[in-house]
Amino acid sequence: MAFDMEQAKRWMSIANDKIQQQKQYLTELDQAIGDGDHGLNMARGFQEVVEKISSTNYEDLGSLFKDVSMTLIAKVGGASGPLYGTAFLKMSLALAGKKEADDNELIAALEAALDGIKARGKANVGEKTMVDVWEPVMEFLREKGSLQAKEAALLAKEKMEHTKELEAKKGRAAYLGKRSIGHIDPGSASSYLLFAALAEVLEG
Ligand code: ADP
Ligand code: MG
Repeated sequence: MAFDMEQAKRWMSIANDKIQQQKQYLTELDQAIGDGDHGLNMARGFQEVVEKISSTNYEDLGSLFKDVSMTLIAKVGGASGPLYGTAFLKMSLALAGKKEADDNELIAALEAALDGIKARGKANVGEKTMVDVWEPVMEFLREKGSLQAKEAALLAKEKMEHTKELEAKKGRAAYLGKRSIGHIDPGSASSYLLFAALAEVLEG
């Protein structure tokens, strides 16, 4: 199974649909332990991403994801804009010159994205951020060595729910200390939507 330009565009388009549908939910999560802008930020950014990439013909996956990255950096804002922007920039570098990616290449690109998030945000697992979804999902895919996207999305959901039990150590929610416990991390929720969208593209 090869992941090509059409699938990359569909991934972003389905992710956008999910984010628009869950905009209010993401806002509510961020109202509980942040400043309430995550739904709006993500909805604005991904809408713009879809408009940009659907009207452009790309030579390779690298240039497609470069546009995703630049658009997210310019339009999302907050902490998550630069984090997702860096993630997609690293993906674009990993996929430079490729018109399609096989399982291993796509897993490596997602792994690069996680490395980018961690380099940028300096968060580790257990600190109640999007890393609490990305890292275990990538660990799972690395172990499997094939893109079992549906299982990965199920795991992402489970890990998103698990952030409820964690105390925030990074980002705005960290100001709340123990009062951040009992709430799902908004960035984990949007990250889950990205993996759920990828699963729909890859496995229908
Ligand atoms: P802001 O907190 O600036 O309002 P957003 O609301 O858009 O930004 O995004 C908040 C999300 O960003 C959090 O829920 C968390 O998942 C993620 N986040 C914040 N700081 C970090 C970090 N240092 N590393 C990884 N993810 C982070
Ligand atoms: Mg916020």
